[in-house]
Formats: sequence, structure tokens, C-alpha cells
Amino acid sequence: MNIQETINKAANVLKKNNIVTAYLDSELLLSEVLKKDRSYVILNSKEILDKKCLYDFNNLIYRRSKGEPCAYLVNYKEFWKYKYFVNKDVLIPRPDTEVLIEETLKIYDEKKGLKVLDIGTGSGCLLISVLKERKNFSGIGIDISKKALKVANFNAKLQQLNNRVKFYNSDIDKFFIGKYDLILSNPPYIKNFDLKYLDRDIVNYEPKIALDGGSDGLSEITKVINKASSLVKKNGKFILEIGCYQKNEIVKKLKDKNFYINKIVKDYAKKDRCIISTKI
Ligand code: GLN
Repeated sequence: MNIQETINKAANVLKKNNIVTAYLDSELLLSEVLKKDRSYVILNSKEILDKKCLYDFNNLIYRRSKGEPCAYLVNYKEFWKYKYFVNKDVLIPRPDTEVLIEETLKIYDEKKGLKVLDIGTGSGCLLISVLKERKNFSGIGIDISKKALKVANFNAKLQQLNNRVKFYNSDIDKFFIGKYDLILSNPPYIKNFDLKYLDRDIVNYEPKIALDGGSDGLSEITKVINKASSLVKKNGKFILEIGCYQKNEIVKKLKDKNFYINKIVKDYAKKDRCIISTKI
């Protein structure tokens, strides 16, 4: 079978399994098997595939048809301008989280050497992307999951940032090191009860520890706000990702901790997703 026929067949299997991005996923998975990029697959549609390649590809399509996300099948996800290593120990970076990077870059230029803290760093994608854009910044990422930090460290090495970034395995409540000019966080904020209504790709494969915000969805975010309040410098900024219906409650919590609200930013789906505040 040639590339085009193979893709068509696989995309039909995925479509039957309710996967909306059936063609895109098939092209991506085949390019991974061939160790080429997606344009190769598109431009060489008549190339005949050998048995081994078809076997490996069909195996990936089978796993995808059961809901396993592409990012875990190919072990990477593009985020911001970079390719991040991911596995099932970390949340797959979401395009919506890029909003936090855009806002950070709008506020700070290259000149100053700021100290940044990322609370619940996961794959490290947020902190690493900011440090790549601002060569004078240095950063610390903390996470409760040791396994996630292995991934974050690996990504920092891939991006040659080892000398500007450090990761600590710590519960948020037990971290007391340093004072920071900027604190970033994308904490777990989904209501425990709502977890089961997420896409099956998410709920069956992504780490619950990175999603579960307790019974009201606010338990982890509240801890993060309290900690940020004690670790941020006066006039320092706190840039936080939130669930789309949490704005009012979180604004109140921030104000209670002496944060001035600068801006609330929507994500690509026009939902409230990010709060920028300043410690006063
Ligand atoms: N935005 C993610 C989702 O919709 C949730 C991320 C988080 O809880 N921090 O699955």
C-alpha cells in the first residue's frame, strides 16, 4: 500500500472511533513511523510502504482509536516555538497556556535579569518557553510529582537551559526558597466531580494529579495564591491560569492577599483563562 492509501484507511478507522482530527492524526503518526516530517508524507503520497512500517503504524492507529492522545504516542508536543518531550506523567501542553507566555513577554523586555518561579511546572513548558525568550531571566520550577520533574529536566536540557533553570520536588505548602520577581502557574483547577465529563482522551490518559482541583476546583489554586503571596517580591507580578468560570472567586482571593488585578485575559476560545496581578 502507498502512503495515501494507508492514510485514508487509517483516517477512516479513527473517524469511526469518533476522532475528529482523523486525517491530521494519521499523517502525524505516519510521519513519526517514517521519521520524517508531515510535509514528507503529504508530498510523497505514492511511495510504497514496507511491512514493518505498516505494522508499526497500524499499532499506533489502534492505540489512537482507543483514545490515547497523539502526543503520548509520539512523545512530543509542540508548544510556543518548541518541541517538548511528554509522557503520561505530565499534562500535554495546551495552546491556551501560551496566553501566559504572550502576556509575560508583553510586560517584560530582555533588559532586566528577573527571577521566575513556576508552581506546578509539569513538563516545564511554561517556564522553559519564557526563559528561551528572555535570556537574562533565571527560573525555578516546582512540582509535587518526581516523575514530572524528570520530564521537565529533560526538556530543560533539550533547550540547553540547564544553567538558568532548577527544578525542585516539593509540595506547594512546603516550599520556602527565595523571593521572585515573577510567579507563573497553571495549577490543577478542574472540579473533581467534572473530571469524568472531560474528553475520554484526557480522562483516561492524562495525569489526574495535574487536573484535579478538589471538590470546588479551587483547592490547589488557593494554595498557589497563598504561596505566591509570600514568595513574590513587592511590585512583583503573578500570572495565573484559571478555569473559565472561576474568575470572580479567584479575583476575590487575590485581592484578599494584596494583589492588584491588572488584567484578565481570554484564551483562543474567548473564555477567561489568565489573571495578571501585581503584589502591592
Ligand atoms: N486546561 C486543561 C483542560 O481543559 C486543564 C488544565 C489544568 O487543570 N490546569 O483539560
